[in-house]
Amino acid sequence: MNVIMKFGGTSVADAEAMSRVIDIVRQRLQRYPDHRPPVVVVSAMSKVTDRLVETGRLAADRQAKAAAQVVSDLLARHVTVAAALVKGDALDTLTAHLATGFTELAGQVREWAAQGEVSPRASDALLAMGELASSRMVAAAFAAQGIPCSWVDSRQVLVTDNEHTNALPDMDATGVKTRELVGSRLDLGEVPVMGGFIGSTADGVTTTLGRGGSDYSAAIFGACLDVDEIQIWTDVDGMLTADPRVVSDPRLVPQLSFAEASELAYFGAKVLHPSTILPAVAKNIPVRILNSRRPEVKGTMITAEGRGNPGELTALACKRGVTVIDITSTRMLMAHGFLRRLFEVFERFKTSVDVVTTSEVSVSVTVDNTRRLEDVISNLRNFAEVNVEKDMAIVCIVGENLRFDPTLFSRAVTSLDRVPLRLVSQAASRRNITFVLRDADVPEAMNSLHDRFFAAKLAS
Ligand code: ADP
Ligand code: ASP
Ligand code: MG
Repeated sequence: MNVIMKFGGTSVADAEAMSRVIDIVRQRLQRYPDHRPPVVVVSAMSKVTDRLVETGRLAADRQAKAAAQVVSDLLARHVTVAAALVKGDALDTLTAHLATGFTELAGQVREWAAQGEVSPRASDALLAMGELASSRMVAAAFAAQGIPCSWVDSRQVLVTDNEHTNALPDMDATGVKTRELVGSRLDLGEVPVMGGFIGSTADGVTTTLGRGGSDYSAAIFGACLDVDEIQIWTDVDGMLTADPRVVSDPRLVPQLSFAEASELAYFGAKVLHPSTILPAVAKNIPVRILNSRRPEVKGTMITAEGRGNPGELTALACKRGVTVIDITSTRMLMAHGFLRRLFEVFERFKTSVDVVTTSEVSVSVTVDNTRRLEDVISNLRNFAEVNVEKDMAIVCIVGENLRFDPTLFSRAVTSLDRVPLRLVSQAASRRNITFVLRDADVPEAMNSLHDRFFAAKLAS
């Protein structure tokens, strides 16, 4: 069985975590000696991308010294971890790569700070450093442990458009490169080690796929290589029945359909980047979520059909800090073309809308990305009254059973009787119901729903 194994930030957070990755990969090689080796995709070490984002903010704010300090702290952290994993000449080579990378970056950061600006293109060059460094380290650590492997520069493989900070893959071009540069390593019996999240345009300019995008990279490479399974190794046992940061005792969901997993990821289940499922669906490749701290746990298996879960609902998700926009126009709403005009404004400012509800005189939408909110609002005000409410959240219940059991909806609403609901919407797929409420009410809403639909099952 051919697999791609993606290890997230916490799974490569330090030398100990990287050693666990080595063990997991070695065991796989030992268990399947006659199979092609796995492809390994890694994220930046935990929190590194956040620190790089902070560097960019400092540079844009002309705080050159503070920005330089973060870069040198990051280099020191990487070198310390490298020294714990790799020895001798190999360590010298690795340290030289890291030093060159971070020193070049420091030079660029100085220039950006002098200009007081970090463009999206510059930001991609900055953020890419995290995955470039971690993947080189993991490759060197594998080699130090006698695992035949080679580092592959993902920027030469993953071809994207030029939508910096949120690039989309060109699957045809990426497929050709993947088979050429990654497939050839596999044919030699080597484990290719690659950074997730990063790619480059056809002209060779570095791009990134958006925060959390390493899952997406793994799915893209996996689809291009037609693997039998895409494995997402992380710091929890799999997809849980709710976000463990909000509900204290979520349970593992053993099986999910692609559609359920997409809904959960889209509505905030951070364990999976929302686009991960797309390449998997295109090639019908199962995705498995696994815990790198507890590799013996079976995790969550995501397949086209799902195999059914015993519970009534599959899981809950929440997306916090969203903004609700109410657009009211007594005069225009029913007029031909009003909705088109309205959504054209969102399209023009590249602001995607998550939940939409309509009444006779108003349309309400939620948005997550508020980068262009001011532009959106002022353009909407040209033809409608606009009211904006920040600090809102979406709570979403997901399950194939929602299609078959109409009482689930009313029972969910009843269990939320203490929470003021702002909007409620059921998607056409009828696999999810979304509630829009105040962000401050998320813990209460999530715990009430979880108690109602999941905790009782545990007791029985
Ligand atoms: P990685 O660094 O491995 O990509 P992430 O931090 O991106 O890991 O995703 C894992 C985290 O997702 C978990 O630690 C958990 O806090 C969060 N999470 C949110 N919702 C869920 C959910 N429904 N199931 C599992 N994890 C979830
Ligand atoms: N390192 C990137 C991030 O933190 C990508 C990823 O971890 O998936 O967003
Ligand atoms: Mg992630």
